[in-house]
Amino acid sequence: MWRIFWSDAVAVLKDERARKSLARYFAVMEGKLPARFLMCKRVKVSVDLSASDEELWRAHERGLKEFRKLLSRIDAGKAKLEDLKQPETSLLGLKVELAKRILKSCHFCERRCGVDRTAGEVGVCGVGERSRIASEFIHTGEEPELVPSYTIFFSGCPFKCQYCQNWDISQYPKGGVEASPQTLAKLVEAQRREGARNVNWVGGEPTPNLHTILEALNLCEVSVPSVWNSDFYMSTEAMKLLFGTQDVYLTDFKYGNDECALRYSKVPNYFEVVSRNHRLAFADAELIIRHLVLPANVECCTRPVLGWIAENLGSVVRVNVMDQYRPEARAHEYPEISRRLSAEEFERALEIAREVGLENIIT
Ligand code: SF4
Repeated sequence: MWRIFWSDAVAVLKDERARKSLARYFAVMEGKLPARFLMCKRVKVSVDLSASDEELWRAHERGLKEFRKLLSRIDAGKAKLEDLKQPETSLLGLKVELAKRILKSCHFCERRCGVDRTAGEVGVCGVGERSRIASEFIHTGEEPELVPSYTIFFSGCPFKCQYCQNWDISQYPKGGVEASPQTLAKLVEAQRREGARNVNWVGGEPTPNLHTILEALNLCEVSVPSVWNSDFYMSTEAMKLLFGTQDVYLTDFKYGNDECALRYSKVPNYFEVVSRNHRLAFADAELIIRHLVLPANVECCTRPVLGWIAENLGSVVRVNVMDQYRPEARAHEYPEISRRLSAEEFERALEIAREVGLENIIT
């Protein structure tokens, strides 16, 4: 049994700001409410899974409406998960089917490669049909409310962050070992029973592995908060499939403009996609937003990112302003980021957070 002896992880249980912005997460973590994916498994959808894509998406829309009603009833104490039967075709089962179809012309992320991953083709991320994991362990270095966090690192990533701390994971999609949904579900159940506060899907990037993750959740019978720890460059279709399955979106909002995103992560149309997905995620579940402050990028990235968050998501959303940038991987090819962040730059970032009105900052 994992014993929680990390002082921050204990102290956060009494942190009113954390509890306010992550109220449902705390309730699931403490066993007072069921994880969302379990409810998604109880929502019946009336559709034949061999129907057309259009029909399946229409059924998915209807299922999501039912899911939201069920969520309200369960959270208000008007219904209990254990009283609900598992239907023959559930909303989560439908999501698994839709994800498998997307794999045939992959558009899990906004790269929209269109490759058939079931036929051995790979796109920008290099991830094949079967997911591979570089490692999985109990992480004690995440935000205090998440620790101890059962963290699964998938190999491969659609981004090419030139300073990536996990370059050996993100840029080597064939690294690690193959992991089936069945294996992952068993691991998640075992780690939750041992006291993990959540399952934390990361990488690399979880997005290319959405089909595997949804199927693993569909097989998992234990209530465990699911944390989507991502670059947030998912397609709208992937976002829809995530709705109703994740308890916390642990987001990575790095860049305040497209030029920096293209220069440092080789990804186009960043701000529009990532800000859109933040809005969608905020409407669906709870958020912890990470912002890694980059050297020499406080005005062009930190200011617009923090300003956008305050303006669009409000002042109480939980934001982790991070100072741990290190010039790893290819950062030395970019003189302005080939150094650590200065104390002055980080202090300026915190000042900006205060100026824009953010009230729930983790530092
Ligand atoms: S997940 Fe990979 S293959 Fe699919 S669209 Fe994104 S980069 Fe391309």
